[in-house]
Amino acid sequence: MSFSTLGLSEKVLAAVEASGYTEPTAIQAGAIPYVLERRDVLGIAQTGTGKTASFTLPMITLLEKGRARARMPRTLILEPTRELAAQVEDNFNRYGVNHKLNVALLIGGVSFAEQDRKLERGADVLIATPGRLLDHFERGKLLLQGVDILVIDEADRMLDMGFIPDIERICKLIPFTRQTLFFSATMPTEIQRLTDTFLQNPAKVEVAKASTTADTVTQRIAAADAEDYEKRAKLRELIEGAEDLQNAIVFCNRKRDVATLFRSLVRHEFSVGALHGDMDQRSRMTMLDNFKKGHIKVLVASDVAARGLDIPTVSHVFNFDLPIHAEDYVHRIGRTGRAGREGTAISIVTGKDQKALQAINDVIGKELEWVGEPVDFSKPADDKKSRRRSTRTPKEKSRSRKPKAEVQEAAVQETESVPAGLEEQPVVPMHAERRAAPPRPRGGRRANQPKDDAIFRNASHVPAFLLRETRSKVQSR
Ligand code: AMP
Repeated sequence: MSFSTLGLSEKVLAAVEASGYTEPTAIQAGAIPYVLERRDVLGIAQTGTGKTASFTLPMITLLEKGRARARMPRTLILEPTRELAAQVEDNFNRYGVNHKLNVALLIGGVSFAEQDRKLERGADVLIATPGRLLDHFERGKLLLQGVDILVIDEADRMLDMGFIPDIERICKLIPFTRQTLFFSATMPTEIQRLTDTFLQNPAKVEVAKASTTADTVTQRIAAADAEDYEKRAKLRELIEGAEDLQNAIVFCNRKRDVATLFRSLVRHEFSVGALHGDMDQRSRMTMLDNFKKGHIKVLVASDVAARGLDIPTVSHVFNFDLPIHAEDYVHRIGRTGRAGREGTAISIVTGKDQKALQAINDVIGKELEWVGEPVDFSKPADDKKSRRRSTRTPKEKSRSRKPKAEVQEAAVQETESVPAGLEEQPVVPMHAERRAAPPRPRGGRRANQPKDDAIFRNASHVPAFLLRETRSKVQSR
């Protein structure tokens, strides 16, 4: 099927062609004709399916008629996170290159003044997170009675984040005669209730069964002992051993673990950045941008980055922790294998993760395979050694042959390296470029080793084995 059969305008088709897309994805082929017919649409699709263009392309076509008036946006798109909102804005910029659309982004964490100016000028497209939208409305800077098309994106994520009351309120502020486009990856009962209330005779377009994972993602699990430093060693081993690794997102469950793991990877000279919900907006956007441009190869992230982020070419996803909610597994690994590309997702599993693993297997409807030999955690503890041996590389083995005291010292040094309180703060620095280790005499610390060496700047003491010359790990390609 070609885009030209869907009813999009010539200008939009030209922009699509310039993007290099030749065929619509299933959600695009299914939803675009209904949107152009001005029907309400209920789209059940996960991110990575081309969902964003399924509403932006027809919206731009429809917006060709009419013009914006001050403080009265013509269309409104609600997104659960600032990153998603910014991505939708990117889509409008890309597909709207042949149009003169005024797009206003209303997200938290940035000043009101610029947003006020854009509203005052008149917005064809308003992309907003619910809280900031209501703030503007309450300040009297925004009138919603001109909204013709309302898009509610990632509704199940909105539910997770507690935004449903805001969404209900916003729906009531917009004229009943509007067209509503509603997207969700899953349809829990609360979402069903919302669609029953606010959609009118919607065309339902479902492209993949909820909670299925893309076929293009190779999924594996890798065993590690439950201590965090063992998991960090396993992660490094997996990153170093990964075939065709272009870049990777590593997910942690808690933001303090994002900070700790980030620092550990910096110390081990990976090109790494971090992303979590407590970082200010500017740092988050810059970090994402650096990752997209390839300046950072590994991005350690909390679940705030799991849903909806459009980073088109992520080759690998690693779960440092199995997600607390099995559904999040689907969203996390959906960061790779997008739009038909190949991807790999590897999750670290410890003996404590049996229930979580079972829940994931249930959600995805299959048993995840192990990297290497299958591991049975129910075996008694003295079986642990042989279990571990089967998954360790020669390098790992040589590390484990170090005197016990030294290995423990490394563990302590890593866990203590995040000063109290810092783990809750935005993570800096932006990234660490990998550097070749300068030559040094064997055996112990070099005389000229600078005390504030960037890699070890948080360490009060650096164990000798960490100062050994290292081979390059993730190379810039
Ligand atoms: P989304 O599900 O909207 O986040 O889109 C996932 C990725 O697919 C984005 O990188 C889009 O740029 C890309 N994409 C969207 N539509 C197409 C298409 N028709 N062909 C190929 N890639 C697409």
